Amino acid sequence: LLAQISVDLIGSSSVRLPGDCVLMRASDTSKPPYVARVEAIEAAGSRGTNVRVRVRWYYRPEESMGGRRPFHGAKEVFLSDHYDVQSADTIEGKCNVHSFRSYTKLDSVNAEDFFCRFEYKSATGSFVPDRIAVFCKCEMPYNPDDLMIQCEECSDWFHPSCIGMTIKDAKKLEHFFCQSCTAENGKMAENSHEATAQSEEKQVESKRRRR
Ligand SMILES: [Zn+2]
Ligand SMILES: [Zn+2]
Repeated sequence: LLAQISVDLIGSSSVRLPGDCVLMRASDTSKPPYVARVEAIEAAGSRGTNVRVRVRWYYRPEESMGGRRPFHGAKEVFLSDHYDVQSADTIEGKCNVHSFRSYTKLDSVNAEDFFCRFEYKSATGSFVPDRIAVFCKCEMPYNPDDLMIQCEECSDWFHPSCIGMTIKDAKKLEHFFCQSCTAENGKMAENSHEATAQSEEKQVESKRRRR
């Protein structure tokens, strides 16, 4: 029976089971709202008053033991093993916690859009999965907020800044072959891709000089 109760929020949206994600007002109002997944709704009062919700918290990177790292996205949250019971009154509204893949495919990211690619163990500060693919010369996991360009030979992704390129110039590239692919393959070093890369670099330099 409890599973069928929904909490009517200010406005039109209501929170339903299972697994709706919500923003909950922080007691310190200078902080952004907490992100949580509603696990169960418990109506304590007889007339639907004092509705309490059992939630599973999402942690923001700065709330985790390791803190925010460069590869964490602005809208990244970790599904924690930290459960709580909260008053439904603190629910500010619904939000969407996307998978990493679906987040990267969003046409536009709104205030209520987040993504989650890690579970977080709050007691030990450890993550599941504890290993993640890394890219670029800097060997960093992918931060979906950062533009990266893909090498057409090895398929690795690179930050423009890590290969001495501006974001503006990287966006203009029609083809890209990374340094190690052009170096490893002698034939390729002589071909037009290398020439293209060199002329791109010259363009970047001349633009810099002009400024
Ligand atoms: Zn990099
Ligand atoms: Zn490559």
